Amino acid sequence: MLIAMDDVTAVVRGSAYRDSLAGRTAVVVGLARSGVAAARLLRDCGATVLGTDAKPIETLGADARALVTLGIRVVLERDALAAVRRADLVVVSPGVPVDAPLAAAARAAGVPVIGELELGWRATEAETIAITGTNGKTTTTALTGALLSRQVRPVLVAGNIGTPLAAHALDFPPDGLVVAEVSSFQLETIDAFHPRVAAVLNVTPDHLDRHGSLAAYADAKARIFANQTSADCAVLNADDEGATDLASRTRADVVWFSRTRLLSHGVSLRDGVITARLNGHHEEIAPVSDIGLRGSHNVENVLAATACALWTGISPEDIRRGIRAFRAVPHRIELVRELDQVAYYNDSKATNVDSAIKALESFSEPIVLIAGGKGKGQDFAPLAEACRGRVTRVVVIGEDGPKIAAALERAGIPVTRSATLKDAIAAARGDTRPGGVVLLSPACASFDMFDHFEHRGDVFKDLVRQLA
Ligand code: ADP
Repeated sequence: MLIAMDDVTAVVRGSAYRDSLAGRTAVVVGLARSGVAAARLLRDCGATVLGTDAKPIETLGADARALVTLGIRVVLERDALAAVRRADLVVVSPGVPVDAPLAAAARAAGVPVIGELELGWRATEAETIAITGTNGKTTTTALTGALLSRQVRPVLVAGNIGTPLAAHALDFPPDGLVVAEVSSFQLETIDAFHPRVAAVLNVTPDHLDRHGSLAAYADAKARIFANQTSADCAVLNADDEGATDLASRTRADVVWFSRTRLLSHGVSLRDGVITARLNGHHEEIAPVSDIGLRGSHNVENVLAATACALWTGISPEDIRRGIRAFRAVPHRIELVRELDQVAYYNDSKATNVDSAIKALESFSEPIVLIAGGKGKGQDFAPLAEACRGRVTRVVVIGEDGPKIAAALERAGIPVTRSATLKDAIAAARGDTRPGGVVLLSPACASFDMFDHFEHRGDVFKDLVRQLA
């Protein structure tokens, strides 16, 4: 699927690409947010579009059902096989595995298969900064977008962060800048996608169920560099082994970032000040104390965003102002309120043990932790270890509450069991002293009690705001 470097200069983008879609037949596989955006883009460019999903149309979201009113036919996946074989183009959603039957059938018939990211990128002409990694993508992407909003070029923050690139590609000006959060799944289905800046924050085991092995997962991440040239920039975490291992796989100029040591070519810390040393220039950007986000992992995210932003020529002063003004993305160690000298934090995005540990490590205050939900077969002993000396009590909820409670009790951590999130908040409140923190960082998925982690976090925030 990768195209040779010689062909890259011939990549057709922007209006020429959009014009090339007119009169073609395209099939879009998967009709969630990305698939709907892809189908609409193709239709707007004059293609004849068939949408397909494993679920019947009546059970799909309103946006998917509305496709029919635009003249897009929607059929069940099993009824799309013949159309896929005859199509000019097949676009798959990030949730659809690369080897899904329809994608395989298309490839076998010689039909190009691309992802929504590739389609959206091709349809625009704007230069792109792409950010990937196992953890920190959303925070770093949102921050990079916030920093760049201080310069004159229009900025579009898109991708895995929630707004598909395809949804805005047709209206976005060619002189704008796209900041795209990209997942390993999206990178599996790129072709000519060519970010001018490609950042890899970290590579640790995740999604191995779908990628098969850590090597295959790292290969997917490395695809972010596939079409870069020596005129481009790769931003890599010098403190992360998985990311440093990728340095040999890019032709681009590597700009490193590090929280732990001063770098001669990159963005790092010097006496507590974010410092950029690039091509002989030396700039002090901002003291770490200006960062309004909790935790050392967020210092890494700020360093990465700074490196990405510097590439555009933005002034260090604008970066500093942007860093100062930036607050947590919702559901990621987000301060909800202070009441009776107790701070309430929503970290509903912590759906695994590792991210809950990261959150615990972000506080020096005594914590009452609310944890639990639908575990993913994880071992909770490391969570219990991280609670020691930091957490005065854990209130457990949800399906795997009892498993967490057992691990905590083995480690001698006091536990309260609650049936609902509301009861858990009341119990946590009763146990917190002035100067303490109540932290929702569940270490589990939310599906046993909520629709998704955002829903869980929103319910938590509402309940906390109602406390008298
Ligand atoms: P992603 O979009 O990659 O899931 P987020 O910015 O949403 O990343 O952060 C998700 C969780 O990952 C956070 O709650 C935090 O616990 C953890 N995290 C964030 N940044 C990092 C980082 N740089 N390194 C390790 N863990 C991180």
